[in-house]
Amino acid sequence: MNEKSKPEIWMMCVPCAEGAKDSYSLKMQLGRTEKITCAICGKRRYGSAYEVRRK
Ligand SMILES: [Zn+2]
Repeated sequence: MNEKSKPEIWMMCVPCAEGAKDSYSLKMQLGRTEKITCAICGKRRYGSAYEVRRK
């Protein structure tokens, strides 16, 4: 078995997702934004579920 981490699903608002792009590769799960509670900033904002992989 390889040790590559499985992708995690994070709910992130758009600004936090933009910031996370520097450190992680992101794949939007929904294809649209909706009102979510952001896992990073903890605010209710428009965002999406992202599949997150460490680079
Ligand atoms: Zn956020």
